[in-house]
Amino acid sequence: MFADLILPLPLPGMFTYAIPADMQNKIGKGFRVIVPFGKRKYYTGIVSNIHSKAPQNMAIREIHSLIDSHPVVNEHQLKLWEWISFYYLSSPGDVYKAALPSPMIPADLKPGFKPRTESFIRLHSSLNVKSLPGIIGRAKKQQALLDEISLFLSENKRDSISRKEISGFSSFSPSVLNGLLQKQILETFDMEKGRIVNENMPLRKAYPLSELQQKALNELNNCFNSKQTCLLHGVTSSGKTEIYIHLIDQFTAKGEQTLYLLPEIALTAQLTQRLKSVFGNKIGIYHSKINDNERTEIWQKMLSEDPYMIILGARSSLFLPFQRLGLVIVDEEHETGYKQQDPSPRYHARDTAIMLAHIYEAKTVLGSATPSIESYYNAMTGKYGLVTIKERFNSVHLPEIDIQNTKELRMKRKMKSLLAPDLIKQINNALDNGGQVILFRNRRGFASLIECKLCAWTPKCTRCDVSLTYHKLSNRLVCHYCNTSYPVPSECLNCGEKSLKPLGQGTEQLEEEVNQLFPGAVVARMDMDTTRGKDSYERIIKGFEEKQIDILVGTQMLSKGLDFDNVNVVGIISADSLLNYPDFRSHERGFQLMMQAAGRAGRKNKQGLVIIQSAHPGQPIYRYLLNNDYESFFRSQLTERKLFNYPPYSRIICIIFKHRNEKIVEKASAFFTSYLKQSLQERVLGPNKPIVSRIQMYHIRETVLKLEAGLSPKRVRDTLNNAEKLLREEQEFKYSILYYDVDPL
Ligand code: ADP
Ligand code: ZN
Ligand code: ZN
Repeated sequence: MFADLILPLPLPGMFTYAIPADMQNKIGKGFRVIVPFGKRKYYTGIVSNIHSKAPQNMAIREIHSLIDSHPVVNEHQLKLWEWISFYYLSSPGDVYKAALPSPMIPADLKPGFKPRTESFIRLHSSLNVKSLPGIIGRAKKQQALLDEISLFLSENKRDSISRKEISGFSSFSPSVLNGLLQKQILETFDMEKGRIVNENMPLRKAYPLSELQQKALNELNNCFNSKQTCLLHGVTSSGKTEIYIHLIDQFTAKGEQTLYLLPEIALTAQLTQRLKSVFGNKIGIYHSKINDNERTEIWQKMLSEDPYMIILGARSSLFLPFQRLGLVIVDEEHETGYKQQDPSPRYHARDTAIMLAHIYEAKTVLGSATPSIESYYNAMTGKYGLVTIKERFNSVHLPEIDIQNTKELRMKRKMKSLLAPDLIKQINNALDNGGQVILFRNRRGFASLIECKLCAWTPKCTRCDVSLTYHKLSNRLVCHYCNTSYPVPSECLNCGEKSLKPLGQGTEQLEEEVNQLFPGAVVARMDMDTTRGKDSYERIIKGFEEKQIDILVGTQMLSKGLDFDNVNVVGIISADSLLNYPDFRSHERGFQLMMQAAGRAGRKNKQGLVIIQSAHPGQPIYRYLLNNDYESFFRSQLTERKLFNYPPYSRIICIIFKHRNEKIVEKASAFFTSYLKQSLQERVLGPNKPIVSRIQMYHIRETVLKLEAGLSPKRVRDTLNNAEKLLREEQEFKYSILYYDVDPL
């Protein structure tokens, strides 16, 4: 008998090993095994198939040992892995590594997962109670401690006590306890202690739904009769989360599990608490701040007879071993954070979750106030159902939006700072009435770039070929690709000019100006720099919630799913910079960001005000924003996408080539691309030198495939795999890096 194994390696395909005779009736699909690999390495593999076909023309090695007595990965999961590996063009090993918590795949013969233990004390197993007086003699202190321990054990009906518990006793001292241990009256042992903490908190029932919410819930349920996936398009604060809670309740009552996905950044303590207060210990939380050992325990709990009924987590939680998955919720489905960038597999968690639900025959809800063009298109064409809520919960008004023309204000010399006079006035108004303010700026750093006034030279990273960002606090230039920092040059390295001036501005400068404009207000800043520390993000949010902060200045980080009740004014300082990215999605992103940012204003019972500053307020996107008109915005985008054959009218695969030597990367990409062109013809664009063409010493080239919807994914992948095989056969290209980004964002 043979087993096909997935090994944690970035190599294509499975690895076949022989199953030793005594293992044959103990092993199965989804079990972990340890196998020798190469000269002296051992790896933990997963059995994906068992068969009796001996592989030809190769020496077959035996499995060294079996780790599990039951599968740790079920067949549904193996199917999902196979799909990810195929669709996202990554090795099965990469998918396996992304899926399992790393302690579950130790890279040698030692176990990777360390159960947490605690030291316990009990009566020594060989102690004869009758001889106790003789042993203890006249040691009064030992007798007292022993009495106290015995009393505790009998009162609590236990046969052991932790060291920690003993240390609270009145007769305790370390030397007395040691005496009892030395005389072998007591003995110590380690007991496993889970990291999962069950809290005992009072639970609330799901709130009764409003009429509009109930209508939406009924529509969702109806929609599930004929569709697997349904898009819930509800304006910010329309009460989507509360609808999810009711849906989850329905599925839990049927004994079916729910996966509730959120992008990492929107997984706030606020939301976690809100769900925990309804579902208590039925819900497990799984995201990047949960450490590896805890992840392992959550995985094991999901395999147990008492699994979590609900998992709230970031993208990697879709890999957990669900037993009876019935419902998948992808909240904020438009968020780009759902796409894994690095390392492989570069999967989109929303699309993968839909596939996961398909495999389990479960239902999927995609929720958003600003759906992605792709999802809305799928709803329009009938692939998904669509449920819409146009009003906020409790009839709270949507915020009023006002656009300030900064170009005109500049010409009239009315822009004395980064803030338009009207915005300043409204902020003062809000502060006078005890309200709070949020200001967005979509860049970090004090002033993004340093530029020479004479020749427009800007300092660049020597390893990455990108312009450096100036950070005022540290007075250094920083590369945002590799994090290398440099001193600020005193003169232009191109022409020698002495006055290098900062160009463009970021959150740090905004914070400084706001401090000067509103001296009485408490100002805080939230961006990548201020949220590096462990709990700094939560601390800022909490400070704002508790109204210790009046004005919060930040990047788009601030627009995600936060629910503040006292924000009167939201200002978007340089809206144009959101729209000027050289990317066909820049307007979609800008629209989403501004709508979401606006959604932070006036949520509880007051109408909020949003002020957008733009130098080009005539662009149609601002009209759609003013009218809160997603549908028209969607149609305008769709027209453009069609014109240029962008998604959803095509699918894009980006092929990335890297090498330290520019000549080699040029040749390798040309070789690969010309092979593709033979069969895929004009669908192949490139190779191109990207805008950032060198990162961390590696030169980069890119080739883009634009594939029409009807084209067979298998044909495309076969062509790519063949091209890669040919490339690897060339000695010269052996060490060039090649990878794919399918449906890049
Ligand atoms: P969304 O997820 O659409 O942004 P939420 O579900 O967060 O909206 O609802 C917005 C606010 O309204 C929250 O503070 C929430 O607690 C409250 N809310 C929503 N639905 C109800 C309800 N049925 N009963 C009481 N409060 C509700
Ligand atoms: Zn760099
Ligand atoms: Zn110069």
